[in-house]
Amino acid sequence: MSEAAKFNAMMRSSGVANSPEDAQPFILIVEDEALIRETIAMALVDEGYQVLALEDGRQALGVVRASQSSEEGEMPAIDLLILDLMLPYINGLDLCRLMRQDGMTTPILMLSAKGTETDVVVGLEIGADDYLAKPFGMRELIARCRSLLRRASRQPQLQEQLVIQFQDIALYPQECRVIVRDGAVNLSPKEFTLLELFMNNPRRVFSRDQLLERVWGIDFMGDSKTVDVHIRWLREKLEVDPSSPQYIITVRGFGYRLG
Ligand code: CA
Repeated sequence: MSEAAKFNAMMRSSGVANSPEDAQPFILIVEDEALIRETIAMALVDEGYQVLALEDGRQALGVVRASQSSEEGEMPAIDLLILDLMLPYINGLDLCRLMRQDGMTTPILMLSAKGTETDVVVGLEIGADDYLAKPFGMRELIARCRSLLRRASRQPQLQEQLVIQFQDIALYPQECRVIVRDGAVNLSPKEFTLLELFMNNPRRVFSRDQLLERVWGIDFMGDSKTVDVHIRWLREKLEVDPSSPQYIITVRGFGYRLG
């Protein structure tokens, strides 16, 4: 039996449908403590998700790799991975690292025991998207899963978009290119990400903290002055008159908005 066929049989026995178009998101759980594993699986099945629960890292890597290399429709694609840190054979951190090295972009929610904050930080650095410390409630877990799935389903739409236009600014997300009043402007990666965020949310006010988190990441140690400096640079490159900006507007007491 091939790897894919083996895991397919495993999924059928767990009631995972073979990727019909309207299938519910498919969540893979990797947790060695049977009680936690089964509790999570039941809670997610109750919510209507398709679930496969595994107990060690080696099995998980097998399933993940089989699902990535499988032909279209052969196996359901994994929409979300719930990964415990301490696992037999291959632990959660190594698994996360291996999967990101393979180029897998599936969202990962890490589960950690108390007192493993360092592992959590490492986990987030090597590509986990969120974490929950044990013990946690099932409602909290489900809320996190929903949010990760929502975020992941939004991304492809943004990636498919070839150009975002706002007044005289055209931003090409896939080419990292910006044209203002028919001329190309050179933006640094942070300036580009900042402008992309604004252009995806015209007229929405962002606070400095929100911009820090969205553009620089939650682990960034700098302060909100960083945001002001980048806004100033962006204005110098975009605005006709940077001292009287028409695009990126300061909203006193709140932050900034586009338009
Ligand atoms: Ca464990």
